[in-house]
Amino acid sequence: MGGVEELYREVILDHFKAPQNRGTLANANAKADGMNPLCGDQLTLSGVLEHGRLTDIRFEGHGCAISQSAASMLTQIVKGKTIEELKHLTTLYKAMFGVEVEGDKTNAVTASEPSEELGDLVALEGVKKYPVRIKCALLSANTLLEMISKVSSGK
Ligand code: ZN
Repeated sequence: MGGVEELYREVILDHFKAPQNRGTLANANAKADGMNPLCGDQLTLSGVLEHGRLTDIRFEGHGCAISQSAASMLTQIVKGKTIEELKHLTTLYKAMFGVEVEGDKTNAVTASEPSEELGDLVALEGVKKYPVRIKCALLSANTLLEMISKVSSGK
């Protein structure tokens, strides 16, 4: 077990080659940009938030397979979720890697078993063995949190 074949599981490559929800939304009322300078990953999320619920989302960006497939997988599970549910999902996702990330600080916590609520994102669990790649995997989740916080604060 282990090694590159685990890092790049088939489902990850499938999302990388044929990403879901790629593009922009003409009616987006929420947007956020994220980047991971360590790897050169870039991501822009645009979403439609109505009555505290994310009704649609798209992503654009470029970078490594981990960052781009994570964005594809994340956008699959977040549609229709309330802001509270989105925060819950990102917490579950970060816990899978055994990290709690607040801004630029990364604190180690005990890794949790991946939750079924995470859908295809569970395929990225193997990334936790590669600490430098965790930021690639978390880019979309952190950008999502930023997009939500902008909306909640009226910016
Ligand atoms: Zn990356």
